[in-house]
Order: sequence, then C-alpha cells, then structure tokens
Amino acid sequence: MAPVTLNSITKRWGTFVAVDSISLDIADGEFLVLLGPSGCGKSTTMRMVAGLDEPTSGEVLIGGKVVNDLPPGARDLAMVFQNYGLYPHMTIAQNIGYPLKVARVPKAERERRVREAAERVELAGLLDRKPSALSGGQRQRVALARAIVRTPQLFLMDEPLSNLDAKLRVSMRAQLKHLQRELGTTTIYVTHDQVEAMTMADRVAVMRDGRLQQVGAPLEIYNRPANAFVAGFLGNPSMNLIEVDVSDGRVRHPRFSIEARDVRLSGPAILGQRPEDMSVVNSGEGDFDGEVYTAELLGDSVLVTTRLGDELIAVKADKSISVSMGEKVGFRFGRSALHFFSRETGERIG
Ligand code: ATP
Repeated sequence: MAPVTLNSITKRWGTFVAVDSISLDIADGEFLVLLGPSGCGKSTTMRMVAGLDEPTSGEVLIGGKVVNDLPPGARDLAMVFQNYGLYPHMTIAQNIGYPLKVARVPKAERERRVREAAERVELAGLLDRKPSALSGGQRQRVALARAIVRTPQLFLMDEPLSNLDAKLRVSMRAQLKHLQRELGTTTIYVTHDQVEAMTMADRVAVMRDGRLQQVGAPLEIYNRPANAFVAGFLGNPSMNLIEVDVSDGRVRHPRFSIEARDVRLSGPAILGQRPEDMSVVNSGEGDFDGEVYTAELLGDSVLVTTRLGDELIAVKADKSISVSMGEKVGFRFGRSALHFFSRETGERIG
C-alpha cells in the first residue's frame, strides 16, 4: 500500500498538451477513479504513473518517493488493461504466476500463491485451461488474479471492464470493488463510464481536455458539480442545462419565470436541474406547459422529455403517472435543487 502524489504533471506530444499540469494526492488504500470523455488524457495520466510514458514536466511520487526515473518494473505496481494482456500459449496458472516467475519466487511458493489468488477471484477450477477456453468474464478475472498475486503497492486499471457485456460488468464491478476493499491496495482506475465511477470510487477526479475539473466523493460531485461540464457529464440522463436570465430574485426564460429567492446573482446564467428533481404535473399547474415528446418506462420511474426551445428537457417522473406522446402537461422545477452556472465560463455561480 502506498499514497500516490502527482505534482503538476504535464504531457506534451509536440505542441499538443495531452495532460495539463495535474496535481493530485491519492491516499493510502484509496480507490481513485479518473473519469472523463474519450481523449481527455486519463490513460496518459495513468501511463505516467505506471512509467510507460514520461512526463514532459512534473513529478510522480509513489509511497513518498519520486519515481520519475524508475522503469515500470521497479515501481511495485500491477496493471490491468481492457484487453487483459494474457499469454495465449500459457495455462491460467502460468498466466497468474508469471509475475512471480519473473521475480524468481520458488516454485512451491509460487504454486501456493497462484492457488490463493485464483480462489479469491473464483477461478480455482480452471487453472489448467488456456485463455482461449475461458469466457470474457473469466479472462478478466485471470487478469485480476495476476495483478493481486504479487500484492503490489498500487493497482492501475484502465477500463478493465469495458469488454464485458452489461450484466457481467455489473457483477465484476462489485467483485472488483470488494476485492480492493479487502486488500486495501491503493488503486487508480480509468473509465469514461460515470456509473462505474459513481459506484466504485472513494473519490472521482473528472478530467476534460487534459485538465482536472473537479475531485471529490461521488455524491459530492453529483450534488454540487463545480461547473456545467461536470454537471452534464454525471447522471443518466444528465442534468438539464437551460439558458436563463436572473434578476430581482427571479429566473426568467421565454417560457417560464420562477422565483429563486436565495439566488444572489444577476444577469445571464445557465440553470441546471437534474431530471429526478423535476416533476410532471397537470397542465396549468407547473412552471411551464409543454407537449410530451417521449415517455419511456424505466421500471422504477417514467422518463418524460419535452422540448424547451432547442433543448430536450428530461424529467424522471413517478412510475404511477400515465402520459402519452403529444399530450400537454405541466413541468415543475424542484426549488431546493436549482444549480446555476456562468454562461461565459461554465463555472458554478450559485
Ligand atoms: P480514451 O478514453 O479514448 O482512452 P483518454 O482520456 O484515455 O481517452 P488519452 O489516451 O490519455 O485519452 O489521450 C489523450 C490525448 O493525447 C488524445 O487526444 C490522444 O490522441 C493524444 N495522444 C495519446 N498518445 C499519443 C501519442 N503517442 N502521440 C500523440 N498524441 C497522443
């Protein structure tokens, strides 16, 4: 186990800045998720921690020691990648035991530790097979077993679940999280899947265009996004973002005007509200009336959308409501969960 510190790390490819001066302290035993859209620099950040890419500037510290000059093999970390990286000609036991063989661990101890690691990920019965004779989920668990067999200081995982089908992903997510808790190993986990981030992370670091946008516990980020980008990236469907004008304690839009007494700002703004904080009411009884554009039964709720100017507004309504496409209904904002962002910078302003 070890804390990890990123000290203003930057990675440039020619003139392109892939990672722009990122500083981050990851605590001993923490599960930190790097989250962001494709190309935002998550993998590059992780590769710099791994030693696979060299920072253009800045320092990486593992266990309090600067590791910039150490090759990956000397950093005492284990990596799990999307494509698992298993050796096809080796058996599962050989695959799992490979890091121990490289480290010249004697055969008897190697066999014992391979068995233990395989039992932890429920693969004990498959040790003599080759990877080609395993399912995707089983291969994923082999990659995990190979990572834990050495009890490294640090796990680095880059989209390790993205090749699995939806159901398996959910169950592997839980297993992986459980395993990390049990082992207490500091983990950096890269994903663009916000559900994975929300469910697994102790803290989430949201990235965009090579920069950190916000770092915090999942609920903290969900409940109080630092800017409109983070607000729009988390949540499914994501937060509604509506251009409004605020003055004299009122929020004005061509289609509605609502009171927002606690809001001190004034001028153009972006109003944010999550779909679950809005409600569908009778026509004439809400903040604005609109036609139902779609109504989808989600099981535990009904997702109702309506057009507001050029935008589609989404509302997660109670599953007991019955509305149909084209019907005119009322939409109401939940007053206690209004978010405001600057139209210029996107930063939270209220
Ligand atoms: P994804 O989720 O798609 O893997 P990511 O957030 O992990 O994306 P990175 O792989 O870190 O993104 O890439 C960040 C940016 O750096 C991208 O625009 C990518 O094209 C660029 N990049 C990555 N590696 C190189 C390289 N070797 N040479 C030039 N540009 C690179």
